[in-house]
Parts: sequence; structure tokens; C-alpha cells
Amino acid sequence: YVFGKKKATEVAHLIWKRVIQNGDTVIDATCGNGYDTLAMLKMVADKSGRGRVYGIDIQGDALKSTASLLDESVTLKEKELVKLFSICHSRMEEIVPENSPVRLVAFNLGYLPGGDKRITTVSETTQLALEAAKKILIPGGLISLVVYVGHPGGMEELETVEAFASGLSVSNWICCKFQMLNRPLAPALVLLFKREVAETQ
Ligand code: SAM
Repeated sequence: YVFGKKKATEVAHLIWKRVIQNGDTVIDATCGNGYDTLAMLKMVADKSGRGRVYGIDIQGDALKSTASLLDESVTLKEKELVKLFSICHSRMEEIVPENSPVRLVAFNLGYLPGGDKRITTVSETTQLALEAAKKILIPGGLISLVVYVGHPGGMEELETVEAFASGLSVSNWICCKFQMLNRPLAPALVLLFKREVAETQ
């Protein structure tokens, strides 16, 4: 089933569904037009009003677009579970309340579709954001990244992500990458699972 999906984002959503539980706290580190934020909200929202999605984007236009997608797609009560922040994702620790059990931090790197293609995520802040995500993620959680290699800087960013993943301890993390071998310019999906219990080596 997973392999029948053509897009890295679709594969990512299927995997998130296996990880996220109702009532969880999750972070969309690159809201863009809000499709990932919406998918996450559907996964965390429960009837008693638990579940939080912290959405981040450096562009105000992206957050506006995310807010209108939510207005069209969810109830007011559900929308209240989403908190949007116009900051760099390297600062994610500042917005999530201490001791919040963050089970997913998702990145969809690159530029805002339909927006200014010159404004893209960059390796340096992506690296800082990954370090922040690593700190706040609970055991059993996931850092998910869709990385576009077909635009300038994209391949370098994938190298940064891969270097970060390769440096994570084997006893605490399972790190893997999905890539379409017959579509070399298709986005890669990098998944960093934090183990529930550290393995003794
Ligand atoms: N997930 C989005 C969706 O479903 O529509 C698409 C995300 S888009 C590919 C990447 C987004 O990352 C852009 O909206 C861009 O403004 C944002 N971005 C770039 N650098 C950022 C940074 N340092 N911190 C937070 N967001 C950033």
C-alpha cells in the first residue's frame, strides 16, 4: 500500500498515522499552504479537545494560506487546537510548552508552492531545527522530512539532513530514507524514529 503512493508527502502521511495518537502534540515546522498541518490536525484532534498542532513558517503569507485552508476544512473547535507562529523553525523550543509530549516534528523543505521561489529553507537553520526537534521529541516519536532535490540548494540540504541522521546513536534512533530510484529528482523522505526504549549495546 505504501509503495502504491507516488508522492513522498502521501507516504509520509501514512507513516505519521501509524505513529500519532489522538491527543498528541505535534509540530509542522514548515506550514506552507497548510496541507500537512491539516493532515496532522485530523490525526491528533480528539473529542475532548486534546491534541495540539504547533505550525511554523517564516512567511506570513504561508500562515495566512494555512489558516484559510483550516477555515474551509475543519470546525472552529478543531481549529483552536492549531497554534501558528511566524518564526524560524530553529526556534521551535520557544513555542512548545515545557513537558509537552511532542510525538512528531515534520518538515517539508524547499519553497512555498505558488509563492516566492527565492525564499527556501536553508541547510544551516534546518540543521539547528533538527537539533531542537531531537531535544523535544518523546521516545516513540518521529522526525519526518520531505526533501526536494530538484531545486538549487536542495541536494546540499539533503546532504545536511543525511549527515545529521547518520550521526544519531544507533541505540536511540532508527533512521531511514525513501527515494524513488527511477525518478532521481523526486523528493526524498527521511524518517528518524526515536526508539521507545534505548537498546543496550
Ligand atoms: N508543508 C507545506 C504544505 O503542505 O503546503 C509545504 C511547505 S513548503 C515546501 C516550505 C515552507 O517552509 C515555505 O512555506 C517556507 O516559507 C517555509 N520556510 C522556509 N524557511 C523556513 C524557516 N527557517 N523556518 C520555518 N519555515 C521556513
